[in-house]
Amino acid sequence: MMGFRDIIGQDAVISSLTGVVKSGKAAHAYIFDGEKGMGKKTLASVFAMALQCETSLEERENAEPCGHCHSCKCAESGSHPDIITLIPEKTSSIGVSDIRSQVVNDVAIKPYYSPRKIYIIPDANLMTEEAENALLKTLEEPPSYAVIIILSENKDRLLPTIVSRAVCLQMRAVDNGDIRAFLERKDPEIKDTSAVISFARGNLGKAVLLSESEEFKLLFEKLRGIVTGVRDMNDTAISLAAAEAAGKKEESDDVLSFFLLWFRDVLFLKAGGSGEKLIFFNEERELSKAASYYSFERINKIIDEIKTARSRIRSNVNPENTLELLFMNMR
Ligand SMILES: [Zn+2]
Repeated sequence: MMGFRDIIGQDAVISSLTGVVKSGKAAHAYIFDGEKGMGKKTLASVFAMALQCETSLEERENAEPCGHCHSCKCAESGSHPDIITLIPEKTSSIGVSDIRSQVVNDVAIKPYYSPRKIYIIPDANLMTEEAENALLKTLEEPPSYAVIIILSENKDRLLPTIVSRAVCLQMRAVDNGDIRAFLERKDPEIKDTSAVISFARGNLGKAVLLSESEEFKLLFEKLRGIVTGVRDMNDTAISLAAAEAAGKKEESDDVLSFFLLWFRDVLFLKAGGSGEKLIFFNEERELSKAASYYSFERINKIIDEIKTARSRIRSNVNPENTLELLFMNMR
């Protein structure tokens, strides 16, 4: 069974939440804010389970859910009548009817079994404005037993009136060393984790996904080949590289993030930064070569060009042509 102890790298958030469980005084609304993959859903279900757990706190270690009482068992199997996770009708948005039927109307019914009724709203940024306004009504006058946990990727895009009524907890980027240890525990056969870790940038869920992806490995090798080789490429080689890198449209953001992170590292080294703080900490040799090849001005220019390329591709300009131009500029 999952507990707070299984959640990596979120010590501050966990200590607030275990504090809430120990005090027995939960707020009516929480916002867990952070990128996809940072463990918000797991954290919400552990928190809900810990709040509903029937075993006395003295018998539980650091407010963890006990895992064996009736409430914990129901929660673990996903059938707890007083822990409700919103499931919207559509996958692309959360409509007002979802919020009304699954939260606003439901919250009027007293808990079946536990002293509290807990609602978890995943992907809250998908709420329509109407849905948010409906939720706001409940947040303005919640029944004493209600706890609503809102999971958002960017709380600044929620209604400020919702945010002001909730306790906001920010998920943190996980330390690279902790991510590496986690990946190595999960798969003792795993070899070089540096590409995955540099790309995941503190997002453990993303690191796990990438470490299992053959496609990511190939993409990383391909892009590394381009960024280290571009200085010696002729025009034909550049066209070929652009065609290859343009690949799938859904990858193009990752492709440009790779170049952006790479040149930020180059700039960092050029400015006298030390190797341990590099994003691509395994590539110091290649990064140093680039740092001595490019001038400060040039590196800053390239970084701007990468950002321009990103916004052009997002607004549907042909990725291949955009990348070709970018690679010419990098050369
Ligand atoms: Zn329990």
